[in-house]
Amino acid sequence: MTDTSTPVLETRALVKEYPLGGFFARRTLRALGGVNLSLRPSEILALVGESGSGKSTIARCVTRLEQPTSGEILLDGVDVLKTEKRHASREYRGRVQMVFQDPFGSLNPVHRISHFLERALRNHQPVTGAALQDRLEELMATVDLDANMLASYPHELSGGQRQRVAIARALAVDPSVILADEPTSMLDVSVRIGVLNLMRSLRDDKGIAMIYITHDLASARYLADRIAVMFAGEIVEEGESMEILAHPAHPYTELLVSAVPDPERSGSYDPVRRAQLRQQVLAAQECRFGGDSDNPCSSTTLVRHRVGEASARHYVRCHLYRPEAMAGANALTATPEKAAS
Ligand code: ADP
Ligand code: MG
Repeated sequence: MTDTSTPVLETRALVKEYPLGGFFARRTLRALGGVNLSLRPSEILALVGESGSGKSTIARCVTRLEQPTSGEILLDGVDVLKTEKRHASREYRGRVQMVFQDPFGSLNPVHRISHFLERALRNHQPVTGAALQDRLEELMATVDLDANMLASYPHELSGGQRQRVAIARALAVDPSVILADEPTSMLDVSVRIGVLNLMRSLRDDKGIAMIYITHDLASARYLADRIAVMFAGEIVEEGESMEILAHPAHPYTELLVSAVPDPERSGSYDPVRRAQLRQQVLAAQECRFGGDSDNPCSSTTLVRHRVGEASARHYVRCHLYRPEAMAGANALTATPEKAAS
């Protein structure tokens, strides 16, 4: 992968505002404050941040379950908000699939597993008879489930198995991109790793690009090539996963990293350091990356700095900058442990 490869999916200055209060109230909550993301083919990008930071809003906008207030969403370089203004085309929905957090809620209990997969397959292409049965069995094999389970009902499956069915359903339409919104957070700890490994194998074997949404930095490091850290509806830092974990530049990222258990680093984050970090997140600090005369650091406009080696594609948001509306204002009160757990 090189810097020049065309992103399969990109968002530019994506803004989502929700009205607050009654119909006549003019106040809005700015859930996304102009998010720029880019995802290359066969890449897994983790979107990490505490609850309320806007991760799911990105997923809902990108999968077109919700209409963004402004901005662009590009699939293979084409702005779909211009070409498909109100609703996503069937083609778009086939190429960008979503896996939700709750494997219990996402499968209607009255249907057998075969129903969900059949419907998704048929949506994609006309397939019947033996060919359909072959495709169903193939999908089950891809997600490591026994083909016998096609005749089962969702309640007969475990959470992990159900999440695998949800993934199989997403795969039925041959997507280029899968967005997975906290896909393992409702599963038993013992089966989480299996689902993460499955996602990785889909990237490796099928070249599917993924946005993996999580509040868990450790699983992001395990699975993702790159990590984007969200805070209050904005991306405050992004870079290669290892780089972000090893050299977090933004105090908010450092706060998240400080809560990740790491035997090699034990004791390096004392409560005093954490309190300092939290203070830096809350109060505008002198920006340690420095602006330049064309693009000075400011408390009202977003300045992105490149940090580290130029090739590392590691960026951080200016510390001086305060988002307009603090969508993730609970960061102000959350303990570091809570913010990252
Ligand atoms: P995350 O997935 O990171 O926990 P969300 O994207 O769900 O965060 O939410 C971001 C912010 O937008 C939160 O402050 C949330 O309360 C707000 N929000 C989300 N959906 C709506 C909605 N339908 N109406 C009003 N506010 C919403
Ligand atoms: Mg969410």
